[in-house]
Amino acid sequence: MKQRNVNRVALIGAGSVGSSYAFALLNQSITEELVIIDLNENKAMGDAMDLNHGKVFAPNPTKTWYGTYADCKDADVVCICAGANQKPGETRLALVEKNLRIFKGIVEEIMASGFDGIFLIATNPVDILTYATWKFSGLPKERIIGSGTILDTGRFRFMLGEYFDIAPANVHAYIIGEHGDTELPVWSHADIGGVSITELIKRNPEYTMKDLDELFINVRDAAYQIIEKKGATFYGIAMGLARITKAILNNENSVLTVSTYLEGEYGTEDVYIGVPAVVNRNGIREIVELTLSEQERRQFKHSADVLKEILAPNFKEQ
Ligand code: NAD
Repeated sequence: MKQRNVNRVALIGAGSVGSSYAFALLNQSITEELVIIDLNENKAMGDAMDLNHGKVFAPNPTKTWYGTYADCKDADVVCICAGANQKPGETRLALVEKNLRIFKGIVEEIMASGFDGIFLIATNPVDILTYATWKFSGLPKERIIGSGTILDTGRFRFMLGEYFDIAPANVHAYIIGEHGDTELPVWSHADIGGVSITELIKRNPEYTMKDLDELFINVRDAAYQIIEKKGATFYGIAMGLARITKAILNNENSVLTVSTYLEGEYGTEDVYIGVPAVVNRNGIREIVELTLSEQERRQFKHSADVLKEILAPNFKEQ
């Protein structure tokens, strides 16, 4: 891996998600350098100009420019947000074909630059495209990270926080599985300030599992609701991507629910899927394997199987 004393993030795809990610990176001064690359060169150029005009108001200046794939050579993290997004009512999995084609070209260009860092993938269906990036790049599996269920977990913690009237930072709960329709809540390991949710329900009749099941449906279907209202979702995922980038560049060893490669963990293998994992400067240090309930194990297996079914026709030859 590169040994530079200046951190560089290369962003591929400055659409709604990508440009919001760039804005989050600058506002939090997460990286020293940010290069923006997009098929639509004017969009990348305009974003770089616009962001540079806010630089004076950021905690630290981030050198920001629009560039080419050659700039990926010295990048520590390449974040891909390029590709088609969901139209109202469309599932993430419906985007497979379009975005696989786009990804092959993009990843080949990045690797041709001599890039030797960490890939962070946001484009949907994110678990499939993270797997594709691993295959197309030839880099070690731990250096390919998908945003996975980081956003779903963020939504879950926010909604649980609202329900129990507790700051989301004190809500410890995960959504795992596909970033999509088959994801699941890990109720068996959800707690508020150290008290399990099962215990909270027992203690207070105001709280019910029925409410919590509905809450999860709202988490799972949040993207459909937002897309219906404003056409796309981008601020939440952008902040989640910035969080992962910070964990990588600061060598944090933070536990985040990201899409990572399983080799027998959670009883499944050869799939990238959202689970809690320790993230640091080398990418994924290790997977956190939660002891799931019988029902959670079944749901997780189903989620992994759905992803594997999509991977099979696309990757069995490689
Ligand atoms: P968008 O249409 O606003 O932006 C896509 C950008 O990609 C455009 O600027 C376009 O010019 C660029 N692009 C397309 N092909 C390219 C190529 N070959 N090379 C370089 N750039 C290219 O879309 P968006 O709303 O920003 O969404 C981007 C992706 O992020 C979608 O797949 C969406 O589903 C996904 N997304 C993921 C999450 C998550 O949790 N992982 C959340 C929200 C959106």
